[in-house]
Amino acid sequence: MAEWTLQAIVESGLCSGCGGCVAAVGPETLQMRLDGSGWLRPQALRTLTPADQQAVREVCPGIGLRHGDTASATASYLPVWGPVSRLAAGHAVDPVIRHRASSGGVLSALLIHLLESRQVDFVLHTRVAADDPLRNDAVLSATREEVALGAGSRYAPASPVAMLPQALARPGRFAFVGKPCDVAAVRKIIDRQPELSQRIPYLLSFMCAGTPSMHGTLEVLARLQVPPAELAEFRYRGDGWPGLTRADTRDGRVATLDYNTAWGNILNRHLQPRCKLCADGTGEFADLVCADAWYGKDGYPDFAERDGRSLVIVRTAAGQALAAGAGKAVSLEDFDAAELRRIQPYQFSRKAGMLARLTAMRLFGRRVPRYLGLHLARCASLQRPWRLLKEFLGTGLRCARGRI
Ligand SMILES: Cc1cc2nc3c(=O)[nH]c(=O)nc-3n(C[C@H](O)[C@H](O)[C@H](O)COP(=O)(O)OP(=O)(O)OC[C@H]3O[C@@H](n4cnc5c(N)ncnc54)[C@H](O)[C@@H]3O)c2cc1C
Ligand code: SF4
Ligand code: SF4
Repeated sequence: MAEWTLQAIVESGLCSGCGGCVAAVGPETLQMRLDGSGWLRPQALRTLTPADQQAVREVCPGIGLRHGDTASATASYLPVWGPVSRLAAGHAVDPVIRHRASSGGVLSALLIHLLESRQVDFVLHTRVAADDPLRNDAVLSATREEVALGAGSRYAPASPVAMLPQALARPGRFAFVGKPCDVAAVRKIIDRQPELSQRIPYLLSFMCAGTPSMHGTLEVLARLQVPPAELAEFRYRGDGWPGLTRADTRDGRVATLDYNTAWGNILNRHLQPRCKLCADGTGEFADLVCADAWYGKDGYPDFAERDGRSLVIVRTAAGQALAAGAGKAVSLEDFDAAELRRIQPYQFSRKAGMLARLTAMRLFGRRVPRYLGLHLARCASLQRPWRLLKEFLGTGLRCARGRI
């Protein structure tokens, strides 16, 4: 099979829009831009050399992921959920952070703890752009207030890894926060240049079901009857758990939509193709991962409004030290691994069905990501055989009809 080029990665639909290739070859060579389908994709400013293409192949999480020595020696590998050294649920101790954040605010609280205990000098993460309520910007935050401005999920394209060169140009150590594919790209960059682990001592992530295209956000706005030009502020969720999707207009009108409708009926119908082939929705390459610790109802997550609660998966020794030292910032209790499948059913079914899905695509000659050490066969063995058959046949049918 031909070696991957950047163009082939993007054309095959395997680009997740992380921005790792920009970090690998430099912003004077590549930039992330929104394409006509509403995705952030790398755009070449000059022709890539063979050395550039090699650098892209080495850092790109879209074409494959592999577990090396990143998991802590103390972590055991749970099929579906990855390397786990501690599983907990809890929330930020600061009620303002807990309320503003997506889930229980544990990510923001840990970032503030890292800054205030001077373990890092700043944080590279994502927040809404100052001049456009619909654009996501990667930013370098150095204070509690700046971190708090980034709290809350942005269900739209963001490419925080493209900001890595600017972060590395600034003196000091920093923590990185991003989706699992963003973190996997940074982990690959550190593997290429191990000295960077001193500069980026913490990689934090959150579970991710997929990035919706900007067209999804525009559909939400249409449902809210708010034209984009009239928008003053836009939040996908937060300010409660799960909180409302909220559009504030320039003339003071407020329109809202509940999380179940905004995510479940609109945004998740616009997911990027690569996300449907993602075997790392739980952030296996991060030091510590947060997610929604939904309470259950009739075997399914219950989205009734409550005080926020985060699920926390501690993976590496760095993650263990962070969680253990942050007792004044976050309140955590142990969480039972047997509950994971019930509160994160999509993460379970996507990874359990991944081998069947990838096998069908290979049979139809499609290029797919290569996963090594992510235990896809063990995950499949946890799923009912008829569900695997359905996954295989359904994917094959969509390939045959040219829909994949
Ligand atoms: C696209 C997407 C899909 C998700 N899918 C799931 C899922 O399947 N299951 C689940 O439990 N949780 C999912 N979440 C995450 C969940 O909504 C919470 O973000 C997570 O539980 C962390 O909550 P927190 O209160 O600790 O984080 P907060 O304190 O609110 O901090 C969130 C951090 O995430 C960063 N961030 C926000 N949006 C983005 C983005 N688009 N790209 C990169 N960084 C970003 C912010 O900069 C901030 O630092 C998803 C989030 C996104 C953005
Ligand atoms: S490194 Fe990231 S942005 Fe670049 S091609 Fe790969 S997935 Fe896409
Ligand atoms: S589902 Fe996977 S590939 Fe898609 S944005 Fe999330 S982590 Fe990246």
